[in-house]
Amino acid sequence: MKFYNLSKNSQVVDYSTAVRTGLGENQGLFFPKEITPIEDIDSLLQLDKFERNFTILRPFVGENLSDEQLRDVVVNTFGIPVEVKTVNETTSCLELFHGPTLAFKDFGATFMANCLKYFSNGEKITILTATSGDTGAAVAHAFYGIENIEVVILYPKNKISELQEKMFTTLGGNIRTIAIEGTFDNCQSLVKKSFDDRDLVKTIGLNSANSINISRLLAQVCYYFEAFAHLPQSDSDNTVVSVPSGNFGNLTAGIIAKLLGLPIKRFIATTNANDTVPRYLTTGEWHPKETVATLSNAMDVSEPNNWPRIEYMIESGQFDKVLLTGDAVNESTTQTSMRSLQEQGYVSEPHASVAYQGLVNQLQQGERGLFLGTAHPAKFKDSVDKILDIDVPLPKELARCVPKEDLSVDMAFDFEQLKTFLNR
Ligand SMILES: *Cc1c(COP(=O)(O)O)cnc(C)c1O
Repeated sequence: MKFYNLSKNSQVVDYSTAVRTGLGENQGLFFPKEITPIEDIDSLLQLDKFERNFTILRPFVGENLSDEQLRDVVVNTFGIPVEVKTVNETTSCLELFHGPTLAFKDFGATFMANCLKYFSNGEKITILTATSGDTGAAVAHAFYGIENIEVVILYPKNKISELQEKMFTTLGGNIRTIAIEGTFDNCQSLVKKSFDDRDLVKTIGLNSANSINISRLLAQVCYYFEAFAHLPQSDSDNTVVSVPSGNFGNLTAGIIAKLLGLPIKRFIATTNANDTVPRYLTTGEWHPKETVATLSNAMDVSEPNNWPRIEYMIESGQFDKVLLTGDAVNESTTQTSMRSLQEQGYVSEPHASVAYQGLVNQLQQGERGLFLGTAHPAKFKDSVDKILDIDVPLPKELARCVPKEDLSVDMAFDFEQLKTFLNR
């Protein structure tokens, strides 16, 4: 399949180019040229998960991967388990945090790294990525030790939890990490600036592993299907999905799943106080505010970089806008929501709790709610322990990196300094 540049429609590329370049000309996002519904969804849902995901992804990767290569990529990526946990009579959590870095981002990062392995042709590639937390860990682990690929991760200094930080700053090897004095949006703007610098892009073979890279989203499309394969069939037409959103990659993937024919009834885009999209959905006006720090810090984004993709699906008539509502959950309600889940026997962390609250606020009679569990509670141990008055045990993936040294360097929010660093 071909992919359009949404900012410059004349740029049309194949899958491998879209993955290798990340971002198109004029900083445009790549998007599939056509999304053709899959004919027999019921049969698809009955397939074994590797076969199902192979079938979903096959048209998108086109001729760039042989059947055998795609099978290999699929097996390497979707060994990560997906679980559906029942919280109460109407609501379940889609747990996406059973991968190597305990967050849903493991799916996209692993898929992308495995595709790039086939696409790099022995040339040097530098992956530059900005993280508000979980992306860094997932990307670092997915690319660690892969030949010819250098990874540089930018993150806002002192704005992510120590445990989260330890998961990607302690690896070393081909993984370098920089703590930027600024916000996540500042980090993201440094990444964008780097892509605008043609010389830099050429000399270091610049690529991004952010959710601007279409490969990550394609991997995420698959677990929405897996969710429906787990849910009782009687609920298959009335399930509402609440997505805890920051950069809106997860929601983009969910909407693509719907366009492929998955019978998701409608979506709720839930955010924390960084509520650009919920406000936009009610007022029609796009007014990002200064990003504020919250308990659900992986969602502290006020200028979500995937929004143009959603906008495109709406404007091109593929997705009906009425099937998407927004919900912004403040800090005190996030805590109440975590406690309410705890009372129902389900320990959760701030991001998933925000999404759960979206269902509490908007689920209607007769509907079933599914919220995405995007990270393991132990990844946010500080706040989870304090708010729920418990001591969340550290899974081995986390315990392992706690004693290791943080290898990050500090840097001002300054493109010239970053450029010097990257050119070294
Ligand atoms: C990245 C992340 C999100 C936000 O996902 P987007 O695809 O950027 O909207 C939500 N929760 C957690 C735990 C995350 O790491």
